[in-house]
Amino acid sequence: MPVTIKTLLLNDAVPSQPPDSVKPTVRQIVDDVVLLWREEPSSEGLEISRLYQKVQKRHVEWQLEEDVLRDTLIKHSLYFNDESQLNTYDDRIEFPPILLKKSYKKVDIACNNEERKLLAKTALDVGDLIYTESSPIVVIPPMDKMALIKSGKACIYCGNSLSNISSHFIIKNGLDCNDCNGVWCTKTCRKNDIIHSALYHDKSKNKSKITIKSHNWILFAKYCQEKLFVAAYSVGIIFAKILLSNEEDSTKTRAQFESLAQVSQRIRINLSDSTNIGGTLDITSGAMAVDDPESVWQEAYSLFTKTFPMLEGDIDLERFLCYIGKFNINQISNQVYQLTSLANHSCEPNARYEIDSKLELKVYARRKIKPGEEIFLTYVNPLHGVNLRRRELRVNWGFLCKCSRCLKELKYSKLRINSETSQLKVLDEKKRRKSSMKSRRPDLTELLKNPQEFDLEIPETLGFGGRRRTSVRFDSNVTFAVEE
Ligand SMILES: [Zn+2]
Ligand SMILES: [Zn+2]
Ligand SMILES: [Zn+2]
Repeated sequence: MPVTIKTLLLNDAVPSQPPDSVKPTVRQIVDDVVLLWREEPSSEGLEISRLYQKVQKRHVEWQLEEDVLRDTLIKHSLYFNDESQLNTYDDRIEFPPILLKKSYKKVDIACNNEERKLLAKTALDVGDLIYTESSPIVVIPPMDKMALIKSGKACIYCGNSLSNISSHFIIKNGLDCNDCNGVWCTKTCRKNDIIHSALYHDKSKNKSKITIKSHNWILFAKYCQEKLFVAAYSVGIIFAKILLSNEEDSTKTRAQFESLAQVSQRIRINLSDSTNIGGTLDITSGAMAVDDPESVWQEAYSLFTKTFPMLEGDIDLERFLCYIGKFNINQISNQVYQLTSLANHSCEPNARYEIDSKLELKVYARRKIKPGEEIFLTYVNPLHGVNLRRRELRVNWGFLCKCSRCLKELKYSKLRINSETSQLKVLDEKKRRKSSMKSRRPDLTELLKNPQEFDLEIPETLGFGGRRRTSVRFDSNVTFAVEE
């Protein structure tokens, strides 16, 4: 069938009137600067006067003086002359005694009450499997798949997609829940899932004396989902598992969770440097920058204790917030692995991890590692620029990264900023142009002429109120293929 290319005007926005001048709020200023840095990473690290020019250009309507911009950014740790003055919280992270045996085949654990490390026990070559963790402490069904899980499109227990599994297979193996539309992907998932019936249908498999108020769990889960509070939801799942396991497993799981490094969410949120728009703090952590995190914490805590009334005397709000912080600083892909939680960060790590669909985690060497050398993983996207990486690490894990890659790149970025007219700038500009050519966005018209698949970028940023946008707005014109 022939395909023609049409260009349509899709933007339904009302043409804007010439803006009246307004005084931006502190929140608007910090949000806009963080957003600018996300859009133009090279602008992070600009001197204040040049940053001010950029902000002015973006918002001609803003009544904003340069010194107000500077003071606001300094107050939010987004601009500084001396980074040692910046807030960090790595010295407030507590390290309870660990429960793991101290030595594995290829790794040793070194820990005291101030730090934890994984060390190579033997010489490792590129690609060597260093260790495997067969499962996280507690399997947490992914909160972002809740709707799919409810409608039987993803496994109740592990969140795997069920699109390849026939209804015949499901019925033959008894993988569907008797009380809802939910389905498990395998017999193992069904067997291991001791919490679903108790949390959603007021029934517990092991007939324990534990009462879980499932109608409150449903409210709790819904609230966490609305507020993107993955950490609270996950802590809820972890405690459901602790309460519903047999005595031995219950004690073990609780002890494993308690032994993880911890810091209160109350301390973490102090480093949050802007709100949800382009904010640095992981928005799924429940420290999303609502104006009033306290009320979200209290409501989540209240629903948590209404679900698990027997925990009320054991866990107060402050302890709950410690668990939230504990989950956030230890999670990898929203699961917590005990051994891996001991690995420290480097922006140029010597090891990497892989998690398969069964949630088994494997750590491999990225380069040669000598016996005794520390094993590092990266906590952030290594493709992010040095300033963004360090901001993410400072806000989410509380430390200023001083890894060799950061130090090298910082030196380079300072040189670049301070040498406007130098050769370096020219060279850098050339390099930038070249690389921007490489990463140029695909031209839809071209792509559609030569039919091929391509990815459309969906904005990750959230609208006000922490709600994910439900639609994508194109700039003004969009080209698409129509069949004739
Ligand atoms: Zn069910
Ligand atoms: Zn499954
Ligand atoms: Zn670094």
